Amino acid sequence: MKFNTKTIHGGQAPDAAYGSVMPPIYQTSTYAQTTPGDHKGYAYSRSANPTRTALEKSFASIENGEFGLAFGSGLAAIDAVLKLLEPGDEVIATNDLYGGTYRIFTSIFKKFGIKFNFIGMDNASNIENYINDNTKLIWVETPTNPMMTIIDLRATAAIAKKYKVWLAVDNTFATPYLQRPLDLGADIVMHSATKYLGGHSDLVMGALIVKDKELANKLYFIQNASGAICGPQDSFLALRGIKTLHVRMQRHCENGKAVALYLANHPKIENVYWPGFESHPNHHIAKEQMNDFGGMVSFTTKGDNYEEAIKILEHLEIFTLAESLGGVESLAGHPASMTHASIPKDVREKIGIVDSLIRLSVGIEDEEDLIADLKHAIG
Ligand code: PLP
Repeated sequence: MKFNTKTIHGGQAPDAAYGSVMPPIYQTSTYAQTTPGDHKGYAYSRSANPTRTALEKSFASIENGEFGLAFGSGLAAIDAVLKLLEPGDEVIATNDLYGGTYRIFTSIFKKFGIKFNFIGMDNASNIENYINDNTKLIWVETPTNPMMTIIDLRATAAIAKKYKVWLAVDNTFATPYLQRPLDLGADIVMHSATKYLGGHSDLVMGALIVKDKELANKLYFIQNASGAICGPQDSFLALRGIKTLHVRMQRHCENGKAVALYLANHPKIENVYWPGFESHPNHHIAKEQMNDFGGMVSFTTKGDNYEEAIKILEHLEIFTLAESLGGVESLAGHPASMTHASIPKDVREKIGIVDSLIRLSVGIEDEEDLIADLKHAIG
């Protein structure tokens, strides 16, 4: 099955009971047993629920994995990966990460004795400088949130294999429409399914996808033992969202390109971060590992003018000023005070998250309306 077909049919067949084409919402916490332990495959909905199972199969299918696991949020999925580790273990992570990922690493798991090294990964070979006997996990986002850095997944996976450490890739920004990290050698793919997979800004959810059965069993144990699962209603919504992922992503990419080009030619804009520019430092890698460049674009105002950036955010009308990304509607955010506020200012600024940085999640509205909105707000 090819990708577009998988988004609609992957891991799903009409429901056995009445042939319903969409998996029913099994809104139940428990299941009748005829004698203790004798049931139809489901005993309690923390452990498994048929609507969630359908979603987990869909996750596995679209990422070319074998096993999918659904969680109550992207951070709950990250939490489950970190629970694979033991005190004394070390993680190497990219220094440009979603703020909440940085926060769970440094404010929660660090105090349980796990060490995090945040490093630049523009050149994947830098990772080898930080690997030692305690290293167990490499954590990568690409494109990164919000600086749109591109990390070479094939090269990173080769390093992970050489040293026998896990490579986990947060594939939230790219989605499997654009890049499939498991095919490039990653061990774990993670998603904030809240974003493009759900696609309609109406749920909060996380996903993990792996190929290896032993790793899947470890993660399933953590999912059940820690209990951060998502409910059947949200599972249904995510399944519905995934069915249009390919057509939405195609338009996100077209509109993202139009917005990036418009901003790049605007005299009041200083820097535009979008991996589709030939001048992007790792454009050649993006071109190789992604099918297109996505709908996320970040930019700064001329002279890093904070007041100008706030004025733009206040004057946008079609772009809604809001947290999050990846929905059909266009959103604008101010990383320094919103998504990345939990990262200390000096750490933030070192990687380019300055006070005038604006991050756009370009939606699937008409391109002309989006450009007109930016024109009006920037002036
Ligand atoms: N990873 C990335 C790249 C994100 O942008 C986000 C949220 O914005 C997360 C992880 C966390 O996901 P959630 O908000 O679903 O917990």
